Amino acid sequence: MAEVEAQDYRMWIDGRATESVSGEWIDVRNPATGAVVGRVPAGTEEDVDHAVTAARASFADGRWKDMYAPQRVAILNRLADLIDERTPEIAALETAQTGSALKLRRDSDIPFSADNLRFFASAIRHLDGRAAAEYSGGHTSMIRREPLGVAGQIAPWNYPFMMAIWKVGPAIAAGNSVVLKPATVTPITTCLLGEMAREAGLPNGVLNIVTGRGDVVGAAIAAHHDIDIVSLTGDSETGRKIAALASGNLKRVHLELGGKAPFIVFADADLDAAAHGATAGALVNAGQDCTAATRIYVHHSVFDAFTYKLKALVESVRVGDPLAETTDMGTLISEAQLTRVDGFVQRARQAGATILTGGARAVVPGFSGPFYQPTIILTDDQKAEVVQSEIFGPVITVLRFDTEEEVLAMANDCRYGLASSVWTEDVRKAMRAAKALNFGCVWVNDHLPLASEMPHGGFKQSGYGKDMSQYSFDEYTQVKHVMVELSGEAEKGWHYTIFGDPKAD
Ligand code: NAD
Repeated sequence: MAEVEAQDYRMWIDGRATESVSGEWIDVRNPATGAVVGRVPAGTEEDVDHAVTAARASFADGRWKDMYAPQRVAILNRLADLIDERTPEIAALETAQTGSALKLRRDSDIPFSADNLRFFASAIRHLDGRAAAEYSGGHTSMIRREPLGVAGQIAPWNYPFMMAIWKVGPAIAAGNSVVLKPATVTPITTCLLGEMAREAGLPNGVLNIVTGRGDVVGAAIAAHHDIDIVSLTGDSETGRKIAALASGNLKRVHLELGGKAPFIVFADADLDAAAHGATAGALVNAGQDCTAATRIYVHHSVFDAFTYKLKALVESVRVGDPLAETTDMGTLISEAQLTRVDGFVQRARQAGATILTGGARAVVPGFSGPFYQPTIILTDDQKAEVVQSEIFGPVITVLRFDTEEEVLAMANDCRYGLASSVWTEDVRKAMRAAKALNFGCVWVNDHLPLASEMPHGGFKQSGYGKDMSQYSFDEYTQVKHVMVELSGEAEKGWHYTIFGDPKAD
C-alpha cells in the first residue's frame, strides 16, 4: 500500500469543516518517514467557544436528544456502516499518523470501533431509570435518565480513531452534544469522523471537533463553564491538570489514564499459552497501550522455562515498514517517546537489571523513524522504575515470585490499577486472584481482549469512570427523581410540622 497523500484537514464545528480563527496550522508527520501527511488547524480558546456554542444550541433545541429513538439508532448504525466501508482508508491514515503496523489498525481497532458504535446505538433503546413505585405511600416515584448537556472530550494518540469513538459513542447515544479534541499529533482520522457523522445524518452541532494543542484547546475544554463533563483518555499527570481545571464550574470528570498491568504466571500455567499471551499483550501497538502486559511475575519453578519461550517469541516479532503486511511492529509515536523509552531501559541496565533481549533502537533500512527493539528486562527489584512506571514502549519487565500471597501483593504494589491477568489451570486460584487484584479488569488465561458490552476503566491512579458497555452511560447521564402526588388533597397530614397543628383523627 502506498503512502497517503498530504492534504489539509479541518476542524468540524456546527456541521461545517472549519479553519481556526488563528489562521495557523499544525503539520502532522508520519513518524516512520518524517514526511508530512497532512495539516490541521491550530485551534484556540475562541474556536472552543464556537464549538461549545454550537453544541449547546443543538442540545437546547432537542434536535438530537428528542429525535425519535429508532431514528437515532439508525443514524449511529449508518455511521458504523460508513466506518466499515472506509476502513482501508481510515486504517492507512491511522498508520500514517502513528507509525503503527497497518494490520493492527485495519484488522483490529478500526473494525472494533464500528462494533463499539453499534453497541452504543443498541443501548439507546435500553436507557431507562430503574425505580417506579409508591415508596412514600402517597406518591408514585420514578426515575428519568437524562443527558448532561455538553460533553468535552480529550483523546490520546495511541488509538486515535477508536478512542474518539469510545468517547463520542456513549455521549451522543445518551443524547448529549460533544466537543472533541483529538491528540495534537494524531488528529487526521478524527477529522474524517465529522464528515462521516454528517453523511450518516447526525444533526449539525451535535459532534464538534477542535484540533490543536493540549495546553490550549484541551485546557480550554477542561475549564469551560458551559461544558457539563470533561472526559480525558491520557496520562495520569494530564488527568490531574484536567481535574483541577474542571473544578471552576464543578463539571463532572471522567478519567481513563495510564496503566502498568501485572501478568501473573503460576507454576501450573500453560507456559506456551502464557508466553504467546505475554508477547501479544506486551507488544501490541509497540507497547503503547494502557493495558499492555509490562510487569510479568513468574513462579520461580517455571521461570527459566517461561523466559526461554518468551525470549524466542519476542525475538520473532518483525519490526519494520508499518505498511508492509509482514510487519508486526512499526515505530513509536515520536523520537521523544523513543528517547523516553530508551532512558528507562538504560537506567535499568545501569541499576543492574539483565537485558535479556533488545534494549536499543531498531534499525529499519530505508526508514529514519523511531523504531525500538522488543525488549525484555529481568529484575528482582519490585521497586525498580521499570516495574513501577508506565514506559509506553515495547519493554517487558519480568520478575520471579514464590507464593500466591506474595505475588498478589507485588501485583497490587503499584500506583496504577487498570488491567491485570492471571495464568493458571486452577480455577480456585484464578478466582482468588480475580478477587484480590485491585484493577479494573482481570483476565484469566488471556490478556488484552475487550468487548463492547463490557466496561473498560481504571482503579487508583488509572482514573475513574468507564468506557464502553452500559456502564459508560453512567458518565454521560444523570438520574432525575420525579414524584407524583396521588391523593389530590390540599392539606397533607405532614404539613403541621411546618405550619399549623396536627389534624385530629
Ligand atoms: P497525554 O495526556 O499527553 O495526552 C492526552 C490528551 O490530552 C491529548 O489530546 C493532549 O493534547 C491533551 N492534553 C495534554 N496536556 C493537556 C492539558 N494541560 N490540558 C488539557 N489537555 C491536555 O497522553 P498521550 O501521551 O496522548 O497518551 C498516552 C497516555 O494515555 C498513556 O498514559 C496511556 O496509558 C493513556 N491511555 C489510557 C487509556 C485508558 O483507557 N485508560 C487508553 C489509552 C491511553
